[in-house]
Amino acid sequence: MAEYKTPVLILGSGPAGYTAGIYAARAGHKPVLVSGGQIGGQLTITADVENYPGFPEAVTGAELMHRMRLQAHNVGVEIIDDNIVEVDFSRSPFECSSENHNLFCGQTVIIATGASARWLGLPSEEKFRGFGVSSCATCDGFFYRGRHTAVVGGGNNAVEEALYLANFAASVTLIHRRDKLRAEKTLQDRLFSNPKIKVEWDTVAEEILGTENPLSVTGVKIKNVKTDRSKLLKIDGLFIAIGHHPNTDIFKDQLELSPDGYIVTTPGSSRTSIPGIFAAGDVQSRHFHQAVLAAGSGCLAALEADRYLNDKTEAP
Ligand code: NDP
Repeated sequence: MAEYKTPVLILGSGPAGYTAGIYAARAGHKPVLVSGGQIGGQLTITADVENYPGFPEAVTGAELMHRMRLQAHNVGVEIIDDNIVEVDFSRSPFECSSENHNLFCGQTVIIATGASARWLGLPSEEKFRGFGVSSCATCDGFFYRGRHTAVVGGGNNAVEEALYLANFAASVTLIHRRDKLRAEKTLQDRLFSNPKIKVEWDTVAEEILGTENPLSVTGVKIKNVKTDRSKLLKIDGLFIAIGHHPNTDIFKDQLELSPDGYIVTTPGSSRTSIPGIFAAGDVQSRHFHQAVLAAGSGCLAALEADRYLNDKTEAP
């Protein structure tokens, strides 16, 4: 068991965490970053990233995160691959204990633990993830220009994904398990008036089909739960949009969370309900899950942590 002490402790190794680390290191705070279980975060399971500025040729999600990690390391962030399992934010320095029995103490903490996309749980979904199955049309939709796609879900996200895909794809089928959408009316109006989009009501995805070499999706077997009839939908890409869950379980009794589990921050800021604790990226943003936004909010959190530390030093 080791003990780490730092002015700025960062939890999470997605774009928000690494960016916070880069800024905190350059401000001279010798930050320690604990990577979490999925090193590099959600982007590591995305194939090509074409919307992150600075990469005129597509970069894979894994490569992008590898570069962010290297950059963080090069500017002096101490990166520890470990997973925090318990936190004590009742007093400063704040304490976080890890799976590997390490103790991390921070005068400030930047939480950048992200949110995870929810998946259907089909074995074939797992197999084709990153090879035709995705949870982000904004990230991967561009690759389906002129091709046939489907989206699973009936909330705002699913409808927005379907509308976004319709800009490129030849067709979009929305697969929804009920006969009513949860999405807001304006989005529904846009969906129903888009000639490229059709809806399969009362329908669930049973199995995703595709080729082995190369791994690639060719269709999805769907079942109407009212008639019990199954059929094959020929598609090249399937987008799962059934919600996200923020990775905040360990903060439940310590910080103010929204009813759906996101960390509550002051609007326009990364400040949480506890002075000295900041939150950045998807863990505090329920609407837009984009790497570039997460990076920006990691920067903001580091700047606010820096100001907090300076104000504390200057206080009489
Ligand atoms: P939601 O929870 O709103 O919707 C999830 C959808 O997925 C529901 O239609 C649900 O079906 C369906 N679903 C859940 N589990 C399964 C499953 N196992 N199999 C099949 N279908 C399933 O999530 P969203 O990600 O759409 O949105 C999250 C939050 O973000 C919401 O509050 C939303 O309003 C907000 N948001 C706002 C946007 C905006 O304002 N522009 C854009 C995107 C999101 P059912 O309806 O039957 O429960």
